[in-house]
Amino acid sequence: MAGTMPAAVAPVSEWWPFRNQMLVTLAAMKAVGIGVDAIQIGTLRTDGMHTDGTPTFIAAMNALLQCQEGGIRLEAPAIVFSSAELIRESGVPPEILAWAHSCHVANEACGECRGCRKHYETLEDLGLAPY
Ligand SMILES: [Zn+2]
Repeated sequence: MAGTMPAAVAPVSEWWPFRNQMLVTLAAMKAVGIGVDAIQIGTLRTDGMHTDGTPTFIAAMNALLQCQEGGIRLEAPAIVFSSAELIRESGVPPEILAWAHSCHVANEACGECRGCRKHYETLEDLGLAPY
């Protein structure tokens, strides 16, 4: 977590407790008031090290939302894909993808954190040079 050591139960250094649960709840709080019947969350098959990115979490959170006012569904349409598979499926061109990064420690890619390394691995999986 920002500015402190990861919690003892953190599966990875960038873990935030109950992050997706909070984000889905905040989205649902707004969605129920404007008549939205489904919320989509961006999680991938390879996000399984984060419990709140797994099919079990999605099913549990979906059940929780469904039993409340509005009966909102939680969907994770990309959960069957790896990062590279999703990029291929989406058709994002390399010139747009080159603008992307997912640094965990800075506003621009540090090139060393787990997020930057994962991004480079994805580019390599796609056959694109990461630098
Ligand atoms: Zn980084």
